[in-house]
Amino acid sequence: MITHIAGANIIAVDKEHGTRPFVGDILIEGQKIAHVGAAVPTPDGAKKIDGQNRLVTPGLVNGHVHSWEAMFKGRFDNMPLEIWMLYSYPIVGNKALDPRLIYLRSMIVAMESLKNGVTCLVDDIIELPTQGMEAIDAVFDAYDEVGIRANVSGNIMDRPFIDTIPFTREYLPADLIEEVLKIETATVKGYLDFATAAVKKHHNRSDRLRYLVAPSGPQRCTDEMLKATHDFAREIKSSYHIHVLETKVQAVTGREFYGKTLVEYIDSLGVLSDLTTMAHSIWVTDSDIARMAERQSSIAHNPISNQKLGAGIAPFRKLLDAGVNVALGSDGISSNDTSRMLDVMHVAGLLHKVTTPNYDRWPSAGEVIHAATMGGARSAQQHTEIGSLEKGKRADLVLFDLETLNFTPQNSLENHLVYCENGSSIDKVFVNGEVVVDGGELTKVNEKALLQELRGRYEAFSAHHAGVEKLNRRFEPYFRKIHERCCGQDIGLNRYSATPAEWYMT
Ligand SMILES: [Zn+2]
Repeated sequence: MITHIAGANIIAVDKEHGTRPFVGDILIEGQKIAHVGAAVPTPDGAKKIDGQNRLVTPGLVNGHVHSWEAMFKGRFDNMPLEIWMLYSYPIVGNKALDPRLIYLRSMIVAMESLKNGVTCLVDDIIELPTQGMEAIDAVFDAYDEVGIRANVSGNIMDRPFIDTIPFTREYLPADLIEEVLKIETATVKGYLDFATAAVKKHHNRSDRLRYLVAPSGPQRCTDEMLKATHDFAREIKSSYHIHVLETKVQAVTGREFYGKTLVEYIDSLGVLSDLTTMAHSIWVTDSDIARMAERQSSIAHNPISNQKLGAGIAPFRKLLDAGVNVALGSDGISSNDTSRMLDVMHVAGLLHKVTTPNYDRWPSAGEVIHAATMGGARSAQQHTEIGSLEKGKRADLVLFDLETLNFTPQNSLENHLVYCENGSSIDKVFVNGEVVVDGGELTKVNEKALLQELRGRYEAFSAHHAGVEKLNRRFEPYFRKIHERCCGQDIGLNRYSATPAEWYMT
């Protein structure tokens, strides 16, 4: 099957053009791009698409998402990470979801993503109380059926929860500590056995789906787990996906637990490498940034989530200047409330402009587009396959209709894409050469029926979760104290837009 897109506006994100638009033709042969550039005759038997009034871009890569949180879309507000996690990733009272609900949960993330031009997800699933094979099967099945490309974890932590946050033993009452310590922790062998079986079953499935190695965070894993998972990531050519320095509490954690920054700590273990993607990377020092660049590491920048949880503002320009690869991510569907990457791009384009009046340092639309495509592909270890429109790469691409409100009147296409478009101009989305969105609608699944099924099950889930929230609310007063203590410390970094003295002024 050959598809010929003729005379389209193209943002290829390739070496020659970068994000500068040009007019040209694209040939898709089977799963790959066979030509991008000069006009070519339509091959015999090819399906021709008139590219006039169309913009073609590489599919967007969501470099960091948690589909687990999809059940909590729109549920919470005004809580910092360490408090919000009590309700979205509860410590106690978790009951495994049945596989059909996990399937539906994954489906709503994938459907929203595809309809928003996202062709590849890096889905870091923190499945509670633990991730069994049936649970991860359900995610792979959903992504297989809807037609998206995805990397699916495998998130793991093996330290007792109580020892992943500083000062817990100082503030929490003995009975709560005892209750948490009763929860069984994972083992390195247990995780590697599970990951090996999951890889065997799903890695490179459908030519689109891969297993992702994701230790949850340096402070949430033992040294042994951090090293063993890095070796395993190298073995299966997966990204080594890890949360690092999202909040100020975590910046204090490095100093309290290890006497160094969390970046220095993971580097000392040999797990800061070209495979490593640090989700967030907000509270990094200048020397952390230099170290991350030297190791050729990536970050996944999640500007909406970081604002929703009041985590702070990642030093976007400093990271780019140093040569750290920057991907963009939505983060979870609770801390962001959607998986729409065009929203993330819009916010990434705006947020950093208020961090300095020096407008030479503001992100350009082109830099944002690069991060949302090639940056994400590099972070996912898939840059030779996806992320740009180039001959030989996988045919993951998005066709935007330029005759919509969002593109009328038409000025700079890069600016329109970042600052005007919200996904409503998307006509077609190809993944691996297959049309998975056509006329703005999903082609492979029945969206309406799936949404209806999920709605039908939500009341029972929500009632159960309300009980879980109640159990975990007992921890909140103590976590609030920890949050306030950590945020009140002077650690020589400020990643908030206000200074500490201004925090509680009215
Ligand atoms: Zn995350």
